[in-house]
Amino acid sequence: QRARQLALSEQPAVSRDGTPVAVAANLGSVADARAALAAGADGAGLVRTEFLFLDRSAAPDVDEQQAEYGAIAAAMDGRPITLRTLDVGGDKPLAYLPMPQEANPFLGQRGIRLSLAHRDLLRDQMVAICHTARDHPISIMIPMVSTPGEMIEARQVLSEAAGPDGLPDGLRIGTMIEVPSAALKIEAFLPYVDFVSIGTNDLTQYALAAERGNGAVAALSDALDPGVLQLIDHVCRAAAGRIDVAVCGEAASDELAIPVLVGLGVRELSVSPPAVPRVKAAVRELNVERCAALARDALTLAGADEVRKHVLTMLSEAP
Ligand code: PEP
Ligand code: MG
Repeated sequence: QRARQLALSEQPAVSRDGTPVAVAANLGSVADARAALAAGADGAGLVRTEFLFLDRSAAPDVDEQQAEYGAIAAAMDGRPITLRTLDVGGDKPLAYLPMPQEANPFLGQRGIRLSLAHRDLLRDQMVAICHTARDHPISIMIPMVSTPGEMIEARQVLSEAAGPDGLPDGLRIGTMIEVPSAALKIEAFLPYVDFVSIGTNDLTQYALAAERGNGAVAALSDALDPGVLQLIDHVCRAAAGRIDVAVCGEAASDELAIPVLVGLGVRELSVSPPAVPRVKAAVRELNVERCAALARDALTLAGADEVRKHVLTMLSEAP
């Protein structure tokens, strides 16, 4: 029974009416990559490279980074890997980076903002990623982007890192959509990105002004809030037929969120390795046309609770 399930989980997830949805994994280590492959992940939609930079006295050099990224890619056995550049800030300080005390670290110098303030660090990371991309199918993803100018600057650093030979063949560059204003002006980003991945954890926190991980506001901080869904819908509409839209926040493995996200047009869900088989199974039960109608309704509702009830009703009806 278990062997049969694993074999099925290795197959691509296709909805009842024939739409493929990639189910990738979020990774923070080589061990995660092995777990993701065993769980049948179609790739790694988010490699959190922070794990290499935290809890040490100096930044990892290019060789060390290249060895790690190469090991993760090798463990994923040829499947596509999306490496996210360093995403830390005042809430996750690094001993070797001077960071000012901030009253609101989630609104401060984090993600690409911090990387652009320490370009040498970003350049080293991009050199390591470019080297890795010569041997493996790699995408590079930029976190906490608020303006196209940040993507332009990140691309300049990437060009410098690639050197005179230019970017490695097949290297794709994308942005995370985690800031509501970036979702709203998605059109302005399209010239500079090959794909986007929606980070619903941060997008929800910023859209609802409800800090992630703060138990007192946990009920508010729900990615199925129609205000958050409208942001995702806006991104999907602008991207349709032009670039791929993935979701790599926790919502991607929430069984009541999956039908809505797929209905809005999301075609890659990136989830923790153990969730991969369950998410693939959920996709296989879906009818995408019905999900699209469900998602349109969800956009008009008042709150996440109403959306959750609506999804439950659809899921309880015959497929
Ligand atoms: C997110 O914000 O949804 C995300 C995937 O990034 P992280 O959880 O690492 O902030
Ligand atoms: Mg995030």
